[in-house]
Amino acid sequence: MKIVIASHNTHKIREFRTLFKPLNKFDVLSLHDFPKYKLPSETGDSFKENAEIKAKDAAEKLGHYVIADDSGLVVPKLGGAPGVFSARYAGEDATDRDNRKKLLEEMDGFSDIDRSAYYECVLILASPEHIIKSVSGKCEGQITEEEKGGGGFGYDPLFLKYDYDKTFAQLPESTKIVISHRGKAFEKMIPTLEHIKTVHAEANAVCD
Ligand code: IMP
Repeated sequence: MKIVIASHNTHKIREFRTLFKPLNKFDVLSLHDFPKYKLPSETGDSFKENAEIKAKDAAEKLGHYVIADDSGLVVPKLGGAPGVFSARYAGEDATDRDNRKKLLEEMDGFSDIDRSAYYECVLILASPEHIIKSVSGKCEGQITEEEKGGGGFGYDPLFLKYDYDKTFAQLPESTKIVISHRGKAFEKMIPTLEHIKTVHAEANAVCD
């Protein structure tokens, strides 16, 4: 069955395709397959609100099951910033590099303890008719004083996973996917995905 990842972010899409692999029978599409569709603005105050806005709109307009992810980095000592503004922390057209530079500037002089941070991800599964399930995942770490590693995206070169003594950008992608906020949230979504796959297969069998 077809399911659309409501994102243009190639890194996120690749991570989702890997996460979906063991589930079989899902034909995983992304917004790159629907070039005419434009996501609505993220006007919510929380990851959950933004994920809902994206999931509802995309499922309704595309007529498919959709998974929308809204995620970001939270630094408690910065009052929760960058938070829902993670993608545009340094401005509307900011690149990942611009955002990392701004974060390092804002945290200049912070002690080790104040460099605590976490990634958060909310995933919403929606059908064209309604929202089916909402789950979330968190991943705790620390912001380094300089970039380390060439993998990942976003804030990954600054996000130290202390139990691995490596940033997300230094870890193999296969490891990051499993331990990340997105991987943890996806894990909670699996039973629902298995369920809709079964219902869908039964409905198709009846139609045959
Ligand atoms: P969204 O696409 O509106 O959910 O914005 C997500 C933003 O949060 C990204 O542009 C990154 O800046 C940050 N982010 C979310 N997840 C990750 C991750 O796994 N690694 C690095 N940065 C992330």
